[in-house]
Amino acid sequence: MKPEIGFVGLLSTKQIIDDIRFAIDNGFQWYELALDWPQNYEISEQQLSEIRETSSQNRLNLVIHTAYYLPIAVPIPEIQNAVVANLKTAINIATKVGSDRVTVHPGLQQLPASAASASIDALINNLHKAVDFGAKYGVHICLENFPKPGASLCANLMTYSQILNEIPNISATLDVGHVNTTNESPVEYLSTLKNVILDMHIHDNNGKTDEHKCLCEGTLDFYPLVKKCKEISFNGPFMLEIFPYEGILRGRDIFMKIWKDG
Ligand SMILES: [Zn+2]
Repeated sequence: MKPEIGFVGLLSTKQIIDDIRFAIDNGFQWYELALDWPQNYEISEQQLSEIRETSSQNRLNLVIHTAYYLPIAVPIPEIQNAVVANLKTAINIATKVGSDRVTVHPGLQQLPASAASASIDALINNLHKAVDFGAKYGVHICLENFPKPGASLCANLMTYSQILNEIPNISATLDVGHVNTTNESPVEYLSTLKNVILDMHIHDNNGKTDEHKCLCEGTLDFYPLVKKCKEISFNGPFMLEIFPYEGILRGRDIFMKIWKDG
């Protein structure tokens, strides 16, 4: 079983196609197109068809990454409408570039604890709408887990898996760097969520803050993680979420070595 590896698009890249060419030139199998960055808010039809043609000709698979700061759990109706519109745009982009999966983040618990259910309800409601809209086009919605610091939702396995269980046909993007900022282990997440993971983000940190460092520059032990992936027959995509390019290539070398040794 060979791992399939990609990377998440960079803030420093002005044109998405440059990331895609870098991915192809360096033999990556996957690329996650980040809608987070302002230069990617408006992607022209011409750019979308160039992305589709270049990636399909070179067998590069695509994932669409919606903005991590999308206020999906803010219950204000006008904001909810805008969130759903943005998720539909992302699903439309996925269909236009030939991708079958979209990563969505869980948002923040910004209301007082006694009103926490309003945030959770907003999140679940929006995810339902996104999953239903995506299903019409064969696009899977992959809910990502957040890191622990601050008011993050889905920053522990219990709430993350409860929310995933609430929504039929939803999938998961497991971010193991985010798990490393909690006192839980990525291996536990893999055991519990193995049937719904369609994407994995890999990077490292000091165990407290979400630093997006290269592999083995923090406290995350990738050996038991890789062992578990093999045990459950998960061979990717493993998306390096490390900046900049130099770290991506080094990260892949380290990951491949661990995969071979593990
Ligand atoms: Zn991530």
